[in-house]
Amino acid sequence: MARHVIIGAGTAGWNAITTLRELDKGGSEIILVSEEAPYSRMVLPYYLAQSIGESHVYTASSSRLAELKVETRIGQRAEQIDSAAKKLVLEGGGEIEYDNLLIATGSSPLKAPVPGADGDNVHSFWTLSQAQTVTAGLRKEARVAVIGAGFISFTILNALVNRGAILTVVELESRILPRMVDETGATIVEKWLAERGVVVRTATKLSAIEDKNGAKLLRFENGPDLEADLVIMATGIRPNIEWTRSSGIEINSGILVDDHCRTNIPNIFAAGDIAEGPDIVTGRKAVHAIEPTAMLHGRIAGANMAGGDTAFAGSLLMNIVDVLDLEIASFGAWDDPEAEAFETVKPDRPAFRKLLFRGGRVVGAVILGKTRDIWTTNDVGMLKGLVYTGVDLSDWKDHLRHNPFDVKRAFLAAGTAGQLLSKTVLGRPSVPAGEIAISS
Ligand SMILES: Cc1cc2nc3c(=O)[nH]c(=O)nc-3n(C[C@H](O)[C@H](O)[C@H](O)COP(=O)(O)OP(=O)(O)OC[C@H]3O[C@@H](n4cnc5c(N)ncnc54)[C@H](O)[C@@H]3O)c2cc1C
Repeated sequence: MARHVIIGAGTAGWNAITTLRELDKGGSEIILVSEEAPYSRMVLPYYLAQSIGESHVYTASSSRLAELKVETRIGQRAEQIDSAAKKLVLEGGGEIEYDNLLIATGSSPLKAPVPGADGDNVHSFWTLSQAQTVTAGLRKEARVAVIGAGFISFTILNALVNRGAILTVVELESRILPRMVDETGATIVEKWLAERGVVVRTATKLSAIEDKNGAKLLRFENGPDLEADLVIMATGIRPNIEWTRSSGIEINSGILVDDHCRTNIPNIFAAGDIAEGPDIVTGRKAVHAIEPTAMLHGRIAGANMAGGDTAFAGSLLMNIVDVLDLEIASFGAWDDPEAEAFETVKPDRPAFRKLLFRGGRVVGAVILGKTRDIWTTNDVGMLKGLVYTGVDLSDWKDHLRHNPFDVKRAFLAAGTAGQLLSKTVLGRPSVPAGEIAISS
């Protein structure tokens, strides 16, 4: 019986497990080694908002894992891989032999390297344990400073505001969401936040965090000091690759994988935030530290570990976030400097659209609009479909140049929906995770 060892119980690891069991119905040994129990980081903002309880954060209980015949080593860390002997070495001793190994150890948050960053009431918001601390400690009308105005910071703004925090967002770069929207889009979002009482300070560099009368005093290289009760650092992440360095696995920014999620070493796969795999738009390899890529990679790796030969065309970079009822999304090569860009801002409302073309193909898009404007949600889906499928829009390019908001007709006329239907990960409808069962 083949033995699969999965390292990491996040989205990528869990999707690999369910795919393995969907395909082999229990006909293999699965050992899950993970520092944390299986849960989804993506739902932590809802936990912070107190709209879901802790039990809803977990993706699998210990009884579900037992039902799927998964042997678990939760709370244990992988330390080293001996690929010649096909052994995983655990921190603190112990080895596990494998036939197939999946590395799905995700990423870790980085804190701004300033004095006081490790002090009391200064937290990252990445793990469940950090989310528990912030959620329990957050008082109504607490003064909260969020350092970093990127995607992760924006996923928690709603929760912080709705729980009555008085919020200041500090960004080192000259605009907010610098890796998600351009200058025009960022200006609209900043205005939207300011109108809702969120203070935004851009081009501001934190230099130290001090304690002052039970509160935190934030010092900056430029700009006035800021007092806060709680500081949340959302200043970037990095893939957890260090522990794999001695294994001979090829690493760039992440672990390099092919279109089967295979590394350069036979029988070793990587998936999710840690993996640098094909990007569907550029064809080059990239780390996409987002949930859909973790899910896609996990399913592909699981299918191939089960003995299949399943390739994927590439993952799509996409970031979608709703901030105080403003929907913000970008897809693919949204900042490609060599693409032809068509963009429009609506004069009467916060609504922005940018389409980036290479030839007849949309390679990237940015969309901003009120969540309650029905077109916003519809167009988010359609733009994603256009970029993902890369359909030929040559006949519609001129129309879209002058009317970037009118994507629906182009989407339909180009047959995008039909192309999307054929693009399921494993080439057939998937089985819901809760319905997967092993044969007795
Ligand atoms: C607050 C928040 C909101 C987010 N919102 C979104 C969103 O709206 N949309 C979106 O697309 N993405 C979102 N993300 C990002 C998304 O959660 C990640 O891309 C996703 O979790 C990646 O899954 P993964 O399985 O690769 O890694 P992870 O989920 O990070 O899982 C890694 C696993 O590996 C374990 N591990 C790490 N090192 C070791 C080791 N040495 N040995 C053993 N185990 C180890 C960890 O304990 C963990 O179980 C959000 C993230 C956060 C924190």
